[in-house]
Amino acid sequence: MRLLMDKKEIITWLHESSPGALSRLFKDADACRHRCVGDCVHVRGIIEFSNYCSKNCLYCGLRRSNSRIHRYRLSLPEIYACAEQAKKLRIPTVVLQSGEDPGYSIKDLCILAAKIKKLGLTVTVSIGERSFLDYRRLKEAGADRYLLRFETSNALLYRRLKPDSSLKKRITCIENLKQLGYETGSGSMIGLPGQSIGNIASDILLFAELGLDMIGIGPFIPHPDTPLSKAGKGSSEMVLKAVALTRLVTKNTNIPATTALGTIDAKGRQKALCCGANVIMPNLTPREYRVLYQIYPDKICISEDSIKCRQCIETMVTGIGRKIARGPGNRRVQRIVK
Ligand code: SF4
Repeated sequence: MRLLMDKKEIITWLHESSPGALSRLFKDADACRHRCVGDCVHVRGIIEFSNYCSKNCLYCGLRRSNSRIHRYRLSLPEIYACAEQAKKLRIPTVVLQSGEDPGYSIKDLCILAAKIKKLGLTVTVSIGERSFLDYRRLKEAGADRYLLRFETSNALLYRRLKPDSSLKKRITCIENLKQLGYETGSGSMIGLPGQSIGNIASDILLFAELGLDMIGIGPFIPHPDTPLSKAGKGSSEMVLKAVALTRLVTKNTNIPATTALGTIDAKGRQKALCCGANVIMPNLTPREYRVLYQIYPDKICISEDSIKCRQCIETMVTGIGRKIARGPGNRRVQRIVK
């Protein structure tokens, strides 16, 4: 297989269903992962610190109109304690994630980022769309990375599913983050109602066009308390094809084996690690809050404590013959292989 693919070729692969052909695709993606980013798996600990959200995305259980959800906000010392736990568990990166919650001032978030940096951890922030100035203040305070998924590259579908924003605004935010020097991550959802195969191919090409450092791809899973409750979920095979093709197209990016994939397929994360993924993200949110952070339902890993989660990840990674990385796992620009 050639490593440079155009949209037509990506679409052909996304339509492919023959086990033999798919096995070749996944092997090629795995070999590309080995050449471009090596064999170690990077671990990033997620701290879901608030499930308040001012937005109303149709697919999301945290949407502001969902009155059935019990809302929570962790205090700054509680969030810091989760980061200390990451340090103890030798997890070098934390991801501070929340809905778009106006309940924390940017000043407080900057103090938090700076304090966590002093623990020697890499700080990733994932709190949605903010102004250029807010992004700049967080960067200056010590945040290293930022995750902002666009979910779909189709502007009309985006507007339908995320009525408070636009694809254009999202892309501008991503460009601002890149301009400020963040390692920037985005991602997409597979199986969204109204999404075509062509849309998924465009998502993959947009990942490359934006020059992203991190790319998360997961399935759509209908949440019962949202307007999309009756829609069908995304397929794990389609997610794996998108992960493999994203690796082949973007080469040296960091690609997580997502928890959402592990939710619809018990071996989904292992499969993703064997067809292009090189990152895994254990949950460091205090156990009593995890069940309340439900963008989608039935999320795995909500009853184990952080220590068990870390052990489980280690077993999973060594079980497929790989090793856990020790360092922060920045994008390895020097290893681009054409
Ligand atoms: S997807 Fe993000 S912005 Fe949209 S409702 Fe959920 S938490 Fe809020």
